[in-house]
Amino acid sequence: MDFSVLPTTAFIRPDGKNQDAIATLLHQVIDQLVEIMAQATERSPLPEPLMSDDYVWATVPHTSADIAALLVEVKAQLHHSMNAAHPGYIGHMDSIPTTVSVIADLLIAALNNNMLSVEMSPVFSRLETLVLKQIAQLFGLGPQANGVLVSGGSLANLQALIVARNQAFNSLEHGIPAGQHPVFFVSEAAHTSFKKASMVMGLGTEAAIPIATNQNSQIDIDDLKTKLARAKADGQQPFAIVATAGTTVTGSIDPIVEMGHIAKLHQLWFHVDAAYGGALIFSDRYRSQLAGIEQADSVTFNPQKWLYVAKTCAMVMFRQFEQLQQHFRVLAPYMHDHDDWPNLGELTVQGTRHPDILKLWLSLQHIGRDGYSAIIDHNYEITQTFTAAVKARPFLTLASEPQMNLVCFRAQPPELSPDKLDDWNHGLQQHLLQTGHTFLSLPVYRGQRWLKAVLLNPFTTADQIHRLFTHIDGYHAASKS
Ligand SMILES: *Cc1c(COP(=O)(O)O)cnc(C)c1O
Repeated sequence: MDFSVLPTTAFIRPDGKNQDAIATLLHQVIDQLVEIMAQATERSPLPEPLMSDDYVWATVPHTSADIAALLVEVKAQLHHSMNAAHPGYIGHMDSIPTTVSVIADLLIAALNNNMLSVEMSPVFSRLETLVLKQIAQLFGLGPQANGVLVSGGSLANLQALIVARNQAFNSLEHGIPAGQHPVFFVSEAAHTSFKKASMVMGLGTEAAIPIATNQNSQIDIDDLKTKLARAKADGQQPFAIVATAGTTVTGSIDPIVEMGHIAKLHQLWFHVDAAYGGALIFSDRYRSQLAGIEQADSVTFNPQKWLYVAKTCAMVMFRQFEQLQQHFRVLAPYMHDHDDWPNLGELTVQGTRHPDILKLWLSLQHIGRDGYSAIIDHNYEITQTFTAAVKARPFLTLASEPQMNLVCFRAQPPELSPDKLDDWNHGLQQHLLQTGHTFLSLPVYRGQRWLKAVLLNPFTTADQIHRLFTHIDGYHAASKS
């Protein structure tokens, strides 16, 4: 190989011949990383994107571009990126990552191992199996429980439903027998990934039967019973019931205990989507909100949300891990068996997969259960401050009573006609971003535009919330005059 056509730092040379150049380059990058993250509050929580003219670099060049110039370009990209670390970035379930997740991803990228098989990731495959077993125990799923990491909650939900379906219809090899119509039940407020899963599984989105919710966005048990009876009467074959612990718009928790009983009574698979709320298992004070989750056959949980592990990091756990092996596993002839250690690529939809486990393991070790518990307490305190401020203003209304650290609300000033309210709330959102350095998202909920705050950032303060409401009052007063 004639290396002279390549830049000297093209690879970290395994013979050490460019070690100094690499070290210099990485030190520069680390300085830039620390600078951008340590000055996150000086940028908008949601900066203006780069103009389209700025993307002249989007061409694929024939010759190597200078690394120093590239880093200048990357710096501009970072400055215009979504600024999740900002304490005013409270619009979505994205927040500041733990320091050790950042470190882990840098190291993992350099090693370039592959979670496909034990051979290709001998340390991290074992670590994943060991750590997920512990987490499954924390959720109370019992001695036979374990899980796998996947790239996001959508894949976790898909994988759980595939196992539920294959188990109910023995369909791993032969698919669904002709004339059968598998269906499952899930909240109308559940995450869209259930419709996607249903479609991907060949059942069609209508096989995800939506259950009505009460004022607080929790599944209405009577409607669940009615729809279950109706599906059976219509000749459909129900195979699963899904509870959500932390809905995406309002952070609501379904009646997990009762739903678990119904699932058991009808011999249906019970899945709990705790992608968001699963973190409460780490909280001494709030863990009881997840009561009943220990009855689940499978649980989705995203440490990339409330455990502050850098994306992606999500898992699906099974009460009987053996069911995943039996109803999902497809053996790969190019992989060896390693005694008790499964080749994880045989057990997941994904093949090649990033070793997300290092970020998770390091975060759990470095923050500790007490650390997470304290952060969650703080999040709840800030949420109470926020909720009280909404309730103190007659022109504001809550979408539902917060059960976690999400507050979904909107302004309904009586002087405005109902058809103007969506625009008015959109205007308020923009005002808060420009003037109040706070980003709230604007979800559609029950057919209207609402403002959503996800109070995840440990650096968000009560003072900041009080200032935010001063800006809300200011906008309200200005619109009246
Ligand atoms: C975030 C979320 C998901 C989807 O997770 P992704 O990682 O975005 O795929 C599913 N369910 C719930 C309740 C969620 O909050």
